[in-house]
Amino acid sequence: MYLKVKAMCALQCVSPDNVIQESPAICGLCPEGCWVRAAVSGGKLISVKSDTNPMYGNLCERGRLAPQIVYSPERLKTPLIRTGPKGTAAFRRATWDEALGKIAENLNDIKEIHGARAVASYMGAGTLEDSLTDFYGKILAPFGSPNDMDCGSICYVSSRVLAPITTFGVHGSHISPDFENAGVIIVWGTNPLKDGLPDKKRRIRSAQARGARLVVIDPRRSSLAKSADMWLPVRPGTDGALALALINVIIAMNCYDKEFVSKWTVGFEALRKYATGFSPRMVSSICGIDESAITGLANMMSKHAPVTVDFYSGVEYAPSGTQTGRAIYSLMALLGSMDVNGGLVINEYPHHAPRENILDPENLPLGAREHPLFYALTGKAHISGFGKAVLHDDPYSVRGLLLFGGSPILSHTDPGMWRRVYEKLDFMLLVDRFMTTESRWADVILPATTYYEMNSYQVYRKQVRLRHKVIEPVGEARSDSVILAAIAEKLGYGDTVPRTGRECRERAFGADSEHLASLYENLAVDLKLPQQRTRKYESGYLRTDGKAGFPTPSGKFEFESTLLRRYGYDPLPVYDNPNQFGDGDGMQLVLTTGARSKTRFNSQYLDRPELMVGNEPVLEINTYDAARRGIECGNIVIITTGCGEISLTAKVTPDICEGTVHAPSGGGGTNQIGSWSEAHINSVIPPESKDPISGYPVFKAVPCEVRSSEKAWNAALELECESEQSSATSVLI
Ligand code: SF4
Repeated sequence: MYLKVKAMCALQCVSPDNVIQESPAICGLCPEGCWVRAAVSGGKLISVKSDTNPMYGNLCERGRLAPQIVYSPERLKTPLIRTGPKGTAAFRRATWDEALGKIAENLNDIKEIHGARAVASYMGAGTLEDSLTDFYGKILAPFGSPNDMDCGSICYVSSRVLAPITTFGVHGSHISPDFENAGVIIVWGTNPLKDGLPDKKRRIRSAQARGARLVVIDPRRSSLAKSADMWLPVRPGTDGALALALINVIIAMNCYDKEFVSKWTVGFEALRKYATGFSPRMVSSICGIDESAITGLANMMSKHAPVTVDFYSGVEYAPSGTQTGRAIYSLMALLGSMDVNGGLVINEYPHHAPRENILDPENLPLGAREHPLFYALTGKAHISGFGKAVLHDDPYSVRGLLLFGGSPILSHTDPGMWRRVYEKLDFMLLVDRFMTTESRWADVILPATTYYEMNSYQVYRKQVRLRHKVIEPVGEARSDSVILAAIAEKLGYGDTVPRTGRECRERAFGADSEHLASLYENLAVDLKLPQQRTRKYESGYLRTDGKAGFPTPSGKFEFESTLLRRYGYDPLPVYDNPNQFGDGDGMQLVLTTGARSKTRFNSQYLDRPELMVGNEPVLEINTYDAARRGIECGNIVIITTGCGEISLTAKVTPDICEGTVHAPSGGGGTNQIGSWSEAHINSVIPPESKDPISGYPVFKAVPCEVRSSEKAWNAALELECESEQSSATSVLI
């Protein structure tokens, strides 16, 4: 039942006096969209608590601190214009009109000298709000530039776009794991307890309660892994080999879905032959997983199918990350778990055969030459091409950057290169809620609101809800969408994007005015989804032409991908990892980075003392690896890779597999708290090592070594370590 809420508009949420008014709201601090109750008094947000909604009610540590974050003294409150040299924090206050005028003047100057393509935009994870991604992702296209980029250049696209579309023609946003009916649930390289909406973890927990088997494949033993039937502590970067070994065993045991394979797939024989090279014994030495655990998992899956899988960035950041995603989908197909109850269900929409964006050689998007399939399937430029264009005019000159809610110098590799890029740009705009590391090079800074201060909408798995402004914007801040619309207006094409939150909603739902009216009337409304059918490839419901099969060039599920072959890649889901464990140069360990946390969001909130004091960046190292190196919990250690070294505090734990160390990402920012400002782990990720298909750096698979620097005791950390030593590292079956 939905709670009826009369008059949900912002003005009624904002209390006119000091009476505390509690209203249902959507948390405004990250894109997850947890349902909360916000207490407002005198127009100010004073506290937030979790909503009681059983699916979406949630509040993490940063969400709880919303009032401190929203009203932080460091919040950007007015437009700023640079007054001193680049690299300094010398700015003066400006009016919105003056700042917008300066932006338009500079962009038009660059266009006149170098052409429109010399201006690029980048939308970071700070702008992953639904209306922003729906309407503003190509803000420079009407200006004439093909160089709109976003954080898809380093996240999501590999596993959710490239892998599924090249395998069975469907975008990952239309594929859902059916936890409710699965016999086996595999959680692979992701942690639903720390990432994603709370309904996912609740759905997994209730599936476990009804008897579904849970398998977690991850080098770190998360709390989910501790409650799983099986934890496979895979060595980072080797997931592809593991998937191929499982394929090999399933085929060798003759327990694959022969009818599906013969009627609906292409390339089975080639896959079978290729996978025979991945015996459990051989793969055991690559992945660090017992041979018996690999065959045990294959047995479990074939015996208790249907099998569903939830996988994400843990498999993306490896030399063959995209192909690993394809290997996992291929495994699901062999198990007869594609588009069936309890498997991976494809949403009930007709899916167009992949439409490839055609490259215009006269207006080549950045990075499209190096990663052509990325551009073909996303229509976006790739940030890996940006630095060369600015520093070396390759393939042409780029001199302007509009940066929204992102910090490439922290989230990408090679910070030195980024510093040189920022120095050389003729103009840089920064739109954010706080000063970031990039601020010191920005020419204009515009203050953006948090999502608590804007009107929009949020789409959930089966529901949609309007996001109502809870408080008026802080200072002169404006929502990202209003800022983007104002820039478009100044550049002469304001009519191409919605100008207000209301216009966004009307463009999103206006074709169905009854639906929109219902959204204003109710807290949330069910999405109008057609009746969910399974095995739609048999009935023609997966294709726009109504023919049976998958929306791929062959009409089949493609173990051998037509698209990959066409773009010059291996058509099979091949495994490649030149950085084998223990290879040369004394690097005996593998570095994985960037596990999600509920106190920070990528590089955001690391400047908040309430969240970060006592929450130092640590290097997690296995108990035995630490003992071999004479490292104890709380020691300062130096981690060395092929491209540099940094210091972190060691956390010795049995909850990471032997041979692997983990470091948090997001650190290294000039404004961050304590040792976070030095903890730039991406600075030691080799920039040249990438997945050739996605262009993603190998954030999770870097050979490294660790040595003790000096004794430094962190009493709290020492105690934490001692309590963890009591549980042993093991594979739980
Ligand atoms: S995960 Fe935390 S910060 Fe993000 S929406 Fe939920 S409560 Fe807010």
